[in-house]
Parts: sequence; C-alpha cells; structure tokens
Amino acid sequence: MESLATGLRCVWCAAESPLDYLIECSRCQGLLELHYDLTEGAKRGPSMLSGGTLWRYAAFLPIRDPAHRVSLGEGQTPLLEAPRLAAVLGVRRLLLKFEGSNPTGTVKDRSSATAVAAARQFGYPAISVVSTGNAGSSIAAYASRAGLRAFIFCYERASPPKLAHMAACASDLIFYQGVYDDLITIWDRVIQELPIFDGGASRNAYKQEGKKTLAYEWAEQTDFHLPATLVLPVAVGEVFIAAWRGLSEMSRMGWIERVPRLVAAQSARSNPVVTAFNEGRALTPLKIGYTVAEGLACGNPERKGEWVLKILRESGGLAADAEDEEILEAQRLLAHTEGIYAGPTGCATLAVLVNLLRAKQIDPDEPIGCVISETGLKSEVTPVRPQGIIPTYEGVKTLLLERLAQAP
Ligand SMILES: *Cc1c(COP(=O)(O)O)cnc(C)c1O
Ligand SMILES: [Zn+2]
Repeated sequence: MESLATGLRCVWCAAESPLDYLIECSRCQGLLELHYDLTEGAKRGPSMLSGGTLWRYAAFLPIRDPAHRVSLGEGQTPLLEAPRLAAVLGVRRLLLKFEGSNPTGTVKDRSSATAVAAARQFGYPAISVVSTGNAGSSIAAYASRAGLRAFIFCYERASPPKLAHMAACASDLIFYQGVYDDLITIWDRVIQELPIFDGGASRNAYKQEGKKTLAYEWAEQTDFHLPATLVLPVAVGEVFIAAWRGLSEMSRMGWIERVPRLVAAQSARSNPVVTAFNEGRALTPLKIGYTVAEGLACGNPERKGEWVLKILRESGGLAADAEDEEILEAQRLLAHTEGIYAGPTGCATLAVLVNLLRAKQIDPDEPIGCVISETGLKSEVTPVRPQGIIPTYEGVKTLLLERLAQAP
C-alpha cells in the first residue's frame, strides 16, 4: 500500500506546504503536521492494512518509496489484559500496551523508523538526536540499519545499559553535561544549519509520525473498540500527540466510533504540562533535576508541550503526575502481579493511574488502557546480592517442601 500523505499543514495558522523536508511553518514558525487522503482510507476500511511491522500502516506514514523504509521488526507489540493488576487497583478491566518488546526496548523505535526512512527519502546521509538514553540508542540502531551516520548527544547520567547500547550502535556518541533542556535549544538551532537530518523531538513531523502507529495497532488489537480512557506518557509530547493524531484519523475515517479520553502522565519532578493544565494557564518552562523516569525528564517541551495542552483542553482530557517513589512502587507491582518487567519511565503511566483512581478522577468501572513504554532491561538496577545454597538432593527437596508449606 502506497502512502496517502498529501502535504504538511501548520498546526497554528493552517498554512499548507508540500511534502518537503520542512520542520516549521515558513509563515509563522509554527509546528507542522502531516495530512493524508482520508477519504481513500474511509472508502477502503481497515482491511486495506497488510503485512507486519510498523510498515503495515505505510498508507498513513509519509514515506513514498518502499525502498526508503527501514525496519528492525518494530511495532506489533502485545496488548495485554492485566486481570491480577486490575484486581489490586480495583478496576474492572485494564489493558496494557507493552512497548518494551520493540527492537531497542522502547516506544522510540516507532519514531526512529520514520525518522531514518525520511532522512533517506530527503537524501540525508546523517541524522542526530539529543537524548536521555532511549532515543539515542534507538536512532543509533536504526541509522546503522540504514547505513546512515548518527550523531548521538547523550545525557551523562544515562543508565549503563543504555550507554552500552548506544556505544555499540552509534557512529558518533557525544556526552553532555546538565539535563536535556540545557542542550536542546542550542542543538535545535545548530542542526538546521547543517546537512544533518533532525532526529529530535521538538519539531520534525516526519519523525513524530511513526509513533502514530501505536494508536492504529491498539485499535486493531481491540477490533476497533478502544478502552474509554487511555493513559499516555508525556516528555516532549510526541507519543501523546501522535497517538491523538492516529485516533483522530481513525475517527474521521469512521474506523472507530469515538476517540478515547486521553490522560497525560508525567513525573512529578518534571511536570510542566500537568502544572499548566491543572492551573489553567500557558506552559511555563520548569528547571528540573533528576527523576527515575529518565525518559520523561523534560522541563521545557516548548511548542510540543503547548500542542499537548491544546489537545487536552479541546478533547476534555486529564493530566496528572506521580512521585519517583510511586513510580518505583508501580514498577514493582507490575512485575509482581503480571510478570511485566518495565523500566521506571515505562511505569509512570501506571503510577499516575493509581493516583487518579485514588482521587476518583477515573471511573474504575470503565475499561482503561495504559501504555507501558519501555522494558526494564535498560534501566540501572540496585544489585541483587545472592547467597547461594550448597546443592544436595536432600537439601533441595527439604527446602522446596518447606517453601511449599509457606504462604507466597
Ligand atoms: C521518550 C519516552 C517517552 C515519552 O516521550 P515523548 O517525548 O513525550 O514522546 C515515554 N516513554 C519512554 C520509554 C521514552 O523513552
Ligand atoms: Zn503557520
């Protein structure tokens, strides 16, 4: 299936542009979003989708030539019923979209696939990104896969597994001091002056677009009957905006009856969107420090943050945050009740859900969906210090008999 993309449109002033490599509106510097021939999608219906990976949704992605596509087998992540966790939380039905099964273990692979494919489409031999770890390892992997050079700027305090992953895949790994916000404004300026494709989250519509497939997949996995409420993580806002875009497109094509209510979840130590939303005012940049939800550490999401607020306000969404301790507790609970080992960033949504249920802001009787955006295998861990038993037949058998007699 060929791409149905028809052009770019400014989110702010609605000025239209052709499908070129533009990262902001030439009239007002606003953010651009992609547009598609949805009449065709409405006519053909969901049966038009075929094949696996993210490119199953190629019709709704902006890559024209299939030769430019790149894949490591991303997408098609499991949508898991979580009955034991639902019982603990006191909700009727909980569905978890586990993005940890993507090739580099996070939701970022969806946008890396379209970013690197778009870099190829527009003839760029190199791509760059500023990262707290996940975006860096994902862009590096997809760039390698496509034979592109990757300039990865990474946060010094990224977890050792993420550092090792980036060091293995990136052609050029550069560390920076401070937090994401300290570098991103400078990098955004420099990158547009060089022959390097913008793999960052601030502006590039082509990059963000891949994350839209999360919504398409989720809809397909529920036979187009999505849960009433979906909880999504927000750092810069790509996952949230892209999911919203996917849901809106499906709604306009008549594939889904209504768009679920969206909840923007942030870490309490990095919560500019939640603060602005709850105080009913414009986005104000925050000076932030460390949070265990490393992937959500962004105090100044700029125009993307404003876009998230616009969506929340126009659609009647919700925004809430959780403290680091609550996030770590949610991580333990998820692993213990459902066997899903996710990193703290990936569990922020769950911690926020717990808080919203406690505050009675979400109805426990309606189905709830939650994105678990990363694996736990890329996070720094507190070492487990085992004390081994001396293995003997009698010893092992006695031990197990004793344990069986105890409560779990
Ligand atoms: C980057 C990231 C997010 C959220 O990112 P946005 O910038 O809001 O799109 C969520 N979860 C994980 C694991 C991430 O790496
Ligand atoms: Zn504009």
